[in-house]
Amino acid sequence: MTSAASPTALLVHAHPEPTSFAAALRDQAERTLVDAGWSVEVSDLYADGFNPVAGPGDFTSPSDPHRLHVQREQAHAAYSGGLAPDVLREVERLERADLVVFLAPLWWFGLPAILKGWVDRVFVYGRVYGNGLTFETGPLRGKRAMLALTTGGPESSYSEGGMHGDLGVLLHSVHHGMFRFTGMEALEPFVAWGAGWADDATREGYLDAFAARLAELASEGSEAA
Ligand code: FAD
Repeated sequence: MTSAASPTALLVHAHPEPTSFAAALRDQAERTLVDAGWSVEVSDLYADGFNPVAGPGDFTSPSDPHRLHVQREQAHAAYSGGLAPDVLREVERLERADLVVFLAPLWWFGLPAILKGWVDRVFVYGRVYGNGLTFETGPLRGKRAMLALTTGGPESSYSEGGMHGDLGVLLHSVHHGMFRFTGMEALEPFVAWGAGWADDATREGYLDAFAARLAELASEGSEAA
């Protein structure tokens, strides 16, 4: 755990509609963790108008103003304090968190672009990973990370032998390439299957199951704090 007092969670939420089921999961997560005594920060990417496009604006004083090399400038900015304010705010939220939860719909078998872009800009080379610091030596080691997804397709279509194959294979780029790569422990994802067409009782069941899962994670996190 990284915090001495109450443990902290960062909820990174990526859905354009405030009344979506993904937003209901976010609210459920916030309620459950706060009730368990956690501090919760929410990065609501659409509501905040987060810019997900990496570019020269990420750096206030680039080392090379003529040619952009993103990783090199990230490393330079990490050392020299030259990260753009919106990137720095998100990096600091990430660094404060003991538990990081990405809440989003599954779009094109992956993360919505705004969330992928958040990772592009906020997982800063030289601060969040890099210079030989990955996996066991990753700067985010000690943190736990989880995906909380809604899908259009049913669970059966994401099983081995199903129409789309094992969801775990599709999520490898997140679990391995983002969470574990930076040193975090990748937790089992929570999935609300077919959230768009499920009946009310099924959706209520997802909300209850998500609260139970987070309450369990919160009690494990509080013990370790
Ligand atoms: P919503 O449609 O926002 O909500 C579903 C229902 O839940 C609504 O009726 C809403 O009123 C209700 N609700 C809201 N709050 C509550 C509450 N508190 N309690 C109970 N009910 C509530 N699907 C796939 O499986 N694979 C893909 O690769 C994929 N790619 C996509 C790509 C794009 C660009 C898009 C737009 C969709 C894609 N989909 C895909 C479908 C998408 O994943 C689903 O539509 C989405 O996950 C459904 O979740 P939602 O939060 O958007 O649900």
